[in-house]
Amino acid sequence: MANSRKNAEMPNEHLHELFVDELKDILGAEKQLLKGLKKMAEKANSENLKSAFQEHLSQTEGHIERLKQVFESVGLTARGKKCKAMEGLLNEAEEIISEFEDDPALDAALIAAAQKVEHYEIASYGCLTTYAKLMEHQEAYELLGATLSEEKETDEKLTDIALNEANVAA
Ligand code: FE
Ligand code: FE
Repeated sequence: MANSRKNAEMPNEHLHELFVDELKDILGAEKQLLKGLKKMAEKANSENLKSAFQEHLSQTEGHIERLKQVFESVGLTARGKKCKAMEGLLNEAEEIISEFEDDPALDAALIAAAQKVEHYEIASYGCLTTYAKLMEHQEAYELLGATLSEEKETDEKLTDIALNEANVAA
């Protein structure tokens, strides 16, 4: 790429532009998600699910802060860009919320929408930690790995809620 940084010290330098592009994408995605999680927390019927969404909302604020540190750690200013995938996932979440608004399966539907988001994030952070490792960006690797773990934990927690309450008829 035209503006690729020339740095003989950096292993796998060819991944640099891709790394930065993916960082911008996930920063945009996390910012877009703040609004979506607020809405999901509002709509959830079960108190457990509501608080899971609220907790993940505050974790998401932390993910945004971590991403800013990742940019800094490689000498760049943090900049996000609109994530089309997150936009699509959140549009579908809106759709499913209005479709199941008064349905006993609303919480299950919210969990499905949220897990699709988590899986997108897991894929993104998974690739980013791999690139950071390959380029030997140790600090970035640790920061991205910490977020990756939280996204995986959230996904598992949502499965637990689905198994334990969201799909059990009252
Ligand atoms: Fe996140
Ligand atoms: Fe997440």
